[in-house]
Amino acid sequence: MTNQEIFQRAQQTIPGGVNSPVRAFKSVGGTPRFIAKANGAYIWDIEGKQYIDYLGSWGPAIVGHAHPEVLAAVQEAATKGLSFGAPTEGEVILAEKICELIPSIEQVRLVSSGTEATMSAIRLARGATGRNKIIKFEGCYHGHSDSLLVKAGSGLLTFGNPSSAGVPQEFVSHTIVLPFNNLEEVKKAFAEVGQDIACIIVEPVAGNMNLVKPQAGFLEGLRELCTQYGALLIFDEVMTGFRAGPKGVQGLTNITPDLTTLAKVIGGGMPVGAFGGRQDIMQQIAPLGAVYQAGTLSGNPVSVAAGLKTLEILSRPGFYDVLSKTTTELVNGLSDLARQHNVTFSADSIGGMFGIYFRENIPTSFAEVQQSNIQAFNVFFHAMLDEGVHLAPSAFEAGFVSASHTEEILAKTFAAADKAFVTVAQT
Ligand code: PMP
Repeated sequence: MTNQEIFQRAQQTIPGGVNSPVRAFKSVGGTPRFIAKANGAYIWDIEGKQYIDYLGSWGPAIVGHAHPEVLAAVQEAATKGLSFGAPTEGEVILAEKICELIPSIEQVRLVSSGTEATMSAIRLARGATGRNKIIKFEGCYHGHSDSLLVKAGSGLLTFGNPSSAGVPQEFVSHTIVLPFNNLEEVKKAFAEVGQDIACIIVEPVAGNMNLVKPQAGFLEGLRELCTQYGALLIFDEVMTGFRAGPKGVQGLTNITPDLTTLAKVIGGGMPVGAFGGRQDIMQQIAPLGAVYQAGTLSGNPVSVAAGLKTLEILSRPGFYDVLSKTTTELVNGLSDLARQHNVTFSADSIGGMFGIYFRENIPTSFAEVQQSNIQAFNVFFHAMLDEGVHLAPSAFEAGFVSASHTEEILAKTFAAADKAFVTVAQT
């Protein structure tokens, strides 16, 4: 069966043929590749075509796909039963490991996705502070819970508008949406309604509007304002946790959030999320406190086994040195090639995450990302796909490198890009 045939078939029984919208290639056009298998840095579609994968399952596949040690851990766990609905030792070990690796997390609760992690962290922040309003930033994505599906309103304190049908205006009326990297606007919001603000939630390095780093002082300023006004600072490190560096972005910046959300890497490709932070706050969750949160499959033993083995592998000496070096070489190589082909292009990376932008300078906000040449990205994306390189199918997404991306794989990527930039230059 071809990708085209199965995509047609999929659309009969699955809305849009996919179980998560970006997979449908809507923004780049064309037919999504239906993946049959993956190994190391490679994925294969159902037509048997091999691709170098820079999607990495949107982040989790940091040690490479189907890593033999992770597979063995999963298989061993699976033979003992798939889910018990009762606590296990593995969950305790994973919690201890997370607390050890990320010092701001004194206690942690496991959930099954990033969406659950952020939704629960926000409920906890509201419960702990007794306040309702939250601040999020334009272009940051924190999963698909109602109060976070919000786009900016027309003025600073015109609260956001739902960015999805089905979300009542009232549900987002407590969500203030501000521009990323604009501390002045955050100060103004606190000056106006600081006593009502429960928390700021931020991707400390944004990876859902392509890659956008915080400018000097931005995260520090958020920390200071939260402390000053008694609001909580939530770092959503679902994407950046164990990806931007061994302790997430907080380890790189030495800023201590009150709460942190995690997912992706900590599940090693299986469904896991987590939220954690200050013990006094975490103890307000049921069964100890009044903030309710629960999950049938939370702390699933097979997922926990995959996560634990993944964290063990990336804790080995030199893991992040190699990962960062590979990612830096990738973006430098692509930038050099773009220059040779006179294509307007810039690129950035942190740890094992990267951004490529068809614009002159690295963007600092969602508005700037939107000014990039989306058409050029789409042409590049398809040219790379034809050459056997699978990038994230949107100009508004970051890319991911794994420990399995070797020099040889980089060389093949550059050979593909050398041709793809020709195609871009001609359009
Ligand atoms: N927060 C961030 C920063 C994310 O990148 C994502 C997913 N891309 C989420 C939350 C939601 O996670 P999930 O898709 O596992 O629900």
